[in-house]
Amino acid sequence: MDELDPASYEYFLALRLHAIRQRIAEAAARAGRDASEVEAIAVSKTVGAEEVLAARRVGWGAFGENRPQELARKLEAISAAGAGPVCFDMIGNLQKNKINQVIGKVRLIHSISSAHLAEAVSTRCEARGIVADVLLETNVSGEPSKSGFAPDELRAAVEGVVGLPGIRVRGLMTMAPAGDADAARATFSGLRELADELRGRTGLALETLSCGMSDDFEIAVEEGSTLVRLGRCVFDRGYTLG
Ligand SMILES: *Cc1c(COP(=O)(O)O)cnc(C)c1O
Repeated sequence: MDELDPASYEYFLALRLHAIRQRIAEAAARAGRDASEVEAIAVSKTVGAEEVLAARRVGWGAFGENRPQELARKLEAISAAGAGPVCFDMIGNLQKNKINQVIGKVRLIHSISSAHLAEAVSTRCEARGIVADVLLETNVSGEPSKSGFAPDELRAAVEGVVGLPGIRVRGLMTMAPAGDADAARATFSGLRELADELRGRTGLALETLSCGMSDDFEIAVEEGSTLVRLGRCVFDRGYTLG
């Protein structure tokens, strides 16, 4: 990397990336896992295209957005800057009328939260002659405020969903209750156990477990996460890594 001004935002981003990688490696080691099994994506929903490009320069390889309009805006700004393609995932609630703004533009959709949405995404992908890689968002904790399949709902729907021709189900995604480490751990281990069960039932690898955010990613890595989604701890100078 080129010399960076220690007062610059890019310098902060580089230090944070280093610290985050270290935390992930330590958490993986505690669980007897190899850190190379865990990818971290930078959730860029609160920052602009310039910050995304700065984060890419210091080594972030993929980004997460939760709103289709914001994704489109950033893709346009990045393309206008002539900066080369940037890899984005869609991690947020996806409304049916926004599906066409997302498919073909992201590497992975983390937030397929119902059989209806899975069918709608599949249909639109088929019409475009593409297949979308997706995760099934699961409400493991059962909090009413959270979207996603209830575990029993997923058990009942999974065979139909994995048979849809326009999507490839690569794994599961969940969000843990905020501010409660024990509940977070139970949520992440519940996701892993559900994936184990569904692997047996579907024959799919379900290799991706997307769980863990700024406040709980180390717990998620200890419990088997393969993809952590980090926003504040990446971009926010005011956030203290716990
Ligand atoms: C915002 C967001 C994140 C990142 O949360 P932080 O606490 O800022 O790390 C991860 N996943 C989803 C779905 C989000 O909306």
